[in-house]
Amino acid sequence: MNCQIVNATIITLNAKNEIIENGEIHIKDGIIQYVGESGPAFAADKMMDANRNVVMPGFVNTHTHITMNLLRSYADDMNLKDWLDKKILPAEDKFNDEISYWGALHALCEMAKNGTVALNDMYFYCNGIARAIEQSGHRAVISRGTVDPDPQTGERTFNDALQIYKKYNNVERIRVYMGPHAQYTASNGLLLKIAQTAKELKTGIHMHISETKREHEQCVREHGKTPIALAESLGLLDVPFLAAHCVYATEGDMELLKEKGAAVLSCPQSNLKLASGIAPILAMMEKGVLVSLGTDGAASNNNLSMWEEMTYASLLQKGTTLNPEAVPAMQALRLATQNGAKALGINSGSLEAGKNADLIIVDTGDIRYIPNYSVVSNIVYAGSDRDVLLTMVGGDILYEDGRVTFADEDEVKERVREIAEKIKT
Ligand SMILES: [Zn+2]
Repeated sequence: MNCQIVNATIITLNAKNEIIENGEIHIKDGIIQYVGESGPAFAADKMMDANRNVVMPGFVNTHTHITMNLLRSYADDMNLKDWLDKKILPAEDKFNDEISYWGALHALCEMAKNGTVALNDMYFYCNGIARAIEQSGHRAVISRGTVDPDPQTGERTFNDALQIYKKYNNVERIRVYMGPHAQYTASNGLLLKIAQTAKELKTGIHMHISETKREHEQCVREHGKTPIALAESLGLLDVPFLAAHCVYATEGDMELLKEKGAAVLSCPQSNLKLASGIAPILAMMEKGVLVSLGTDGAASNNNLSMWEEMTYASLLQKGTTLNPEAVPAMQALRLATQNGAKALGINSGSLEAGKNADLIIVDTGDIRYIPNYSVVSNIVYAGSDRDVLLTMVGGDILYEDGRVTFADEDEVKERVREIAEKIKT
């Protein structure tokens, strides 16, 4: 289908940071053909008037656990160990693929509504998750969290990860990575096996790493290396490596991440809410490390808003470095969009010919956008989820006119309410 968007304020995020007033975009078969002022003749099947609102690349949430939407507000204001052991893990024992599907679909509705076009997920019951993603049309990297508290569980979760890879890699818009949960939940033997398998399959790895002080220091005590240095020594960074959190990354860790081309998935709000700390993402970026943003799961955030993550990412770096120039608005916007696309190897993140049409339209008519000296500043420092008018992935509309196109939102909410009743008891 050919689609033409006209009368748009286009934040291109191209190399020149161009913002085009009264511009238009031509899309053919999901790929952008033209972005500019008035373009060449184009036979559009669908014409969309942006009414001077902003068109920009959609958000890429690079670290989440979408099924955890089922656990939003279930356990808050607790320490990480009790949160996990007393509340989250027992609740997760009640899950299955069907329950996972509804939790995932619920999250994908939330994401479509807040302008998220792609995500990187790690969880279990991935059949339910993949089914929901195939239905929504989001781009996604998924991985089966792999752990070995005992050898049998290690074998079971590893084999399940392989099955999920075989079943869903390159199906629709899904790719499958290996997902060792974390250094403290996976033995060196399992991590080594995962590194070798990822190399053989030519896929990537997604892992929580250096998230808490306790994890970081314990790893140094037991192995004489930081979690990132240990991962590197086991070969995990020899494939595309998605490093979630990195709150305690040292200078040496940052060098390793840069040298190996790994991407950092920073989750500012989750790190604050679980009192893990503040990741030094400005220092990472100064060293040339690719930094992107994620929300983490809804049980530790408690929403999937990339709008909030980019605001926090900017403000926290200013506050911790005492430098008001740290992570300016345009850079914050890139962290939440383009850098995520780069991290996940997706051909989007800017509005330019040849890129996937993964974009959103943002309502800039609200009082919070006026006056409008800098539209990017308004989006980063004053905007919110509620400003999204339309979300498009590969030319397909996932959200428009206040409704998601791939599900009945009322039905999804009702099913999730029913599941929550069962989780409570
Ligand atoms: Zn996580």
